[in-house]
Amino acid sequence: MEFNSTKNKELGIYINEIIEIGAVKLNEYLEEIGEFSATVKPHFTKKLNPYFKKLTKISDKDLKISENFSTVIENFITWCEADKSTVFLSWSDTDLHVLVENYNQLLKRENVDFIKRYADLQKYIMSFLKTENNNQISLTAAAEQFSLSTKKFEMHRATDDSKVCGQLLKKTFENEKFSKYIRNTENPLFYRKLVFKPYIITDLKKAKIEQEQLFYTCPFCKNKIKFDGKFNRKFKAFCEIRQCKNCKNKIAATFRLKQNFDSVQISKRIKKYVKQKER
Ligand SMILES: [Zn+2]
Repeated sequence: MEFNSTKNKELGIYINEIIEIGAVKLNEYLEEIGEFSATVKPHFTKKLNPYFKKLTKISDKDLKISENFSTVIENFITWCEADKSTVFLSWSDTDLHVLVENYNQLLKRENVDFIKRYADLQKYIMSFLKTENNNQISLTAAAEQFSLSTKKFEMHRATDDSKVCGQLLKKTFENEKFSKYIRNTENPLFYRKLVFKPYIITDLKKAKIEQEQLFYTCPFCKNKIKFDGKFNRKFKAFCEIRQCKNCKNKIAATFRLKQNFDSVQISKRIKKYVKQKER
């Protein structure tokens, strides 16, 4: 999909409004057996933002002759002929996020119910590549890594992007490995997990962690110390400076806690306390 960021004035919130839906259908041998392409007349704005126009080369004029979201999505669902075993793919789950957003705000519907199985192709492809810090890579970059030429395609147009996705899947397909990336969207947790945004925990008492995780060891004498830091807004972490009761060295400890969907991620930094130079 391609989407244009605009404001939903009724609700006073921003929305990535879907402007184009493109897809290819693959058979069991991952051969292309059909394609879908449609632009969507936006509901919340008449004008596309300049960045979007430049990226996609879709113009305001193209949209005048387009159908609205509800009609295009109905046509798309008909074209899909999906059943329970059909797997929907997109390059990163952003498209699914945006689809949910458009379903909520335009169709007043909670879940994208025509999708029963979903896989994030970017995640699957990334598992073959070693990137620095596990950074996400663009579709074009991934295609290059697997020696797929994207020259004949208009990248950043939905249908051509999906063709490249199809070819990438075919080139890398390993049945057993790929099946681990297929999600069942009918699991009630699926959408909750999809829309969950990780956040930094600012109240140590409310963090769902074991008491044991609040301990650290003194870097000098390996004495076990219970952390009791205060939250520091600037560092977005809990910090404490204390003297080890055992070896009398001064220690600076920093704990950063991130709430993920089903776990709390704790990063600890323990070092010798060095007094900051006075300015
Ligand atoms: Zn110590």
